[in-house]
Amino acid sequence: MCKPSKNRIYCPECRRSKMLFETETKANTFIKFNKDNIENGNKLRSYFCVCCGGWHITHSAYNNERDEIVNNIVCNHLKSTEKTNVRKILNRERVNIILKDVRTHRIVSQDELNMFLYNEYPDTPNNIIATVKREYMCELKNKS
Ligand SMILES: [Zn+2]
Repeated sequence: MCKPSKNRIYCPECRRSKMLFETETKANTFIKFNKDNIENGNKLRSYFCVCCGGWHITHSAYNNERDEIVNNIVCNHLKSTEKTNVRKILNRERVNIILKDVRTHRIVSQDELNMFLYNEYPDTPNNIIATVKREYMCELKNKS
C-alpha cells in the first residue's frame, strides 16, 4: 500500500505538501485502505489537481458547484484516456501473439494467411485480424 510519506509533494495550488497519485484509481484505493486510520476518513474524496497533473485526496467538500463540475469533466476525460491506453496495449499484445503463431506456421501467402486466421482465430475482432494481415504481409514482402 502507498505510504503517505513517500508520495508527498509540495502543491503550489494548495500551498502545502500533499500526497500525489498518478491515477484516480490509485487515489481511491488509498482512501479505501486507509480511511479507517484517518480522522474523518469516510469524508475523504479524490480530485484532480491541474497544478500537479495528478490526484490528491481531501476531506473538504467542493468550494462551489463549478469546481465540482470541472473536476467531474476532467475525471471522465482522464478515465476514458486511461481505458483507451489499456485497450491499445492489450490489442497490441494480441496482435503480437497471433503474429508469432503465424510465423511459426511458416505461412507464405495471403490466401494461406486468410485461411489460417479464419480457422484458428474465428472470434478475434476484425481490427486485430486486419493488423496481423497488414503486418505479416509486409514482413513477407520484405523477406522476398
Ligand atoms: Zn496539487
